[in-house]
Amino acid sequence: MMAASSAGDVYGRGMTSQRARDRLVARLRQSGISDERVLAVIGQLPRHLFVDEALASRAYEDTALPIGLGQTISQPYIVAMMTAAILRNGVPQRVLEVGTGSGYQAAVLAMLVPQVHTVERIDELLYSARRRFRRLGLKNIRSRHADGNVGWSEEAPFDAILVTAGADELVAPLLRQLSEHGVLVAPVGPPGQQQLLRVQRDGENWVTEKLGAVAFVPLLGGVV
Ligand code: SAM
Repeated sequence: MMAASSAGDVYGRGMTSQRARDRLVARLRQSGISDERVLAVIGQLPRHLFVDEALASRAYEDTALPIGLGQTISQPYIVAMMTAAILRNGVPQRVLEVGTGSGYQAAVLAMLVPQVHTVERIDELLYSARRRFRRLGLKNIRSRHADGNVGWSEEAPFDAILVTAGADELVAPLLRQLSEHGVLVAPVGPPGQQQLLRVQRDGENWVTEKLGAVAFVPLLGGVV
């Protein structure tokens, strides 16, 4: 994943070491995450590089953390659950993420699927995420500064779409950018009542399943 010369910095030490990642994986397993592919990636990927240095020592707690500009890096349990939900029927070839944020979820996906597209509305966050992708040698991520409410039509269809910000309702253009049997995973519902939904497309039918209660930052419009 990354150049050997920088391996020491990248893999961390003490609170950011391999032992810290192993403890996080053990905790996720206890919490019910059973997809070994997802657990293996979370055990390898240095989450401390996706947060500010001042928060690095907390990077392997199973908690969301601030990444600036009012946004958060999602809780590892939620990242694991969302990722497992799109891998359930096999590995999707092309995945779209809406809400790049720190880039952590996109990086997890990039280690599991051939091609990741990710869209972020806040330029400054996207800039930092791209630097992390480069540092980690993740070459199968394409990113775009745009409003993800309209998806990425030039690159559609996608076998899976993962939305990492909450909307009151499912976003219709995203549902339409799913491939024939594609899967969308998204937090939906008013603040305080959000549910994580998994929607499986079957031609012109979309079958919805609730995965549990969640609390995501809002899906907003426009770009900054
Ligand atoms: N996936 C991220 C990670 O791994 O760090 C966490 C994302 S954070 C919970 C939600 C992100 O969605 C924020 O960075 C926010 O700016 C972004 N966002 C909100 N509305 C958006 C939109 N319409 N289009 C693209 N990104 C959006």
